[in-house]
Amino acid sequence: MHPKEERTVVIVKPDGVRRGLIGEIVNRFERRGLKIIALELFSATKQQIDDHYPKDEKWILRLGEKTLANYTQYGIDAKAELGTDDKKEIGLMVRGWLLDYMTSAPLVKMIVKGIHAVDMVRKISGPTMPAAAEMGTIRGDFSVDDASAANRDKRAIHNIVHASETPQEAEHEIQFWFAPEEVHDYKRAEDDIMF
Ligand code: ADP
Ligand code: MG
Repeated sequence: MHPKEERTVVIVKPDGVRRGLIGEIVNRFERRGLKIIALELFSATKQQIDDHYPKDEKWILRLGEKTLANYTQYGIDAKAELGTDDKKEIGLMVRGWLLDYMTSAPLVKMIVKGIHAVDMVRKISGPTMPAAAEMGTIRGDFSVDDASAANRDKRAIHNIVHASETPQEAEHEIQFWFAPEEVHDYKRAEDDIMF
């Protein structure tokens, strides 16, 4: 595969859709030179979101670890806050909140294609915790949430977008969310000038 053929999945989350940020988000990828080759507004079922996010122990432990690292940073006692400091229990708790959040309003799913699409889209989106996201990123410009606040209210972090983290995750998500006939490749006018 030519490096310019790399593809990734972006999902505008309920807070992004409800705040009217669909166009803003699409624009940020397009102006960089990345190509939107599939795009749809839809409502997901809990089962779909459950299948979308990884179920393996490693991913769940990582979710718990991210929460614990955030608690350490802000001096919060996980046991007092969540009733446990077990990575797996916290990870499962967060995953459950994520299913509620992602089914609370419509989503926009898209496939973004281009050179290092996975990394570029992650960089444009910014890291998971909005407080850690630089200005100029989607999460840094438009979200103010944090794990400590979200967990206190027993909900997922509202951080506007989902973006695949690795090319493998991206391919799994493309297979899961899109039928082959929903993907439409084309040549952009800038392609010959930009690369
Ligand atoms: P990312 O979306 O940056 O790839 P993850 O894959 O680690 O992040 O987590 C998936 C989503 O779960 C996050 O985008 C966020 O909405 C939510 N989330 C992650 N960690 C927490 C947490 N500690 N508390 C609440 N929600 C969380
Ligand atoms: Mg992720």
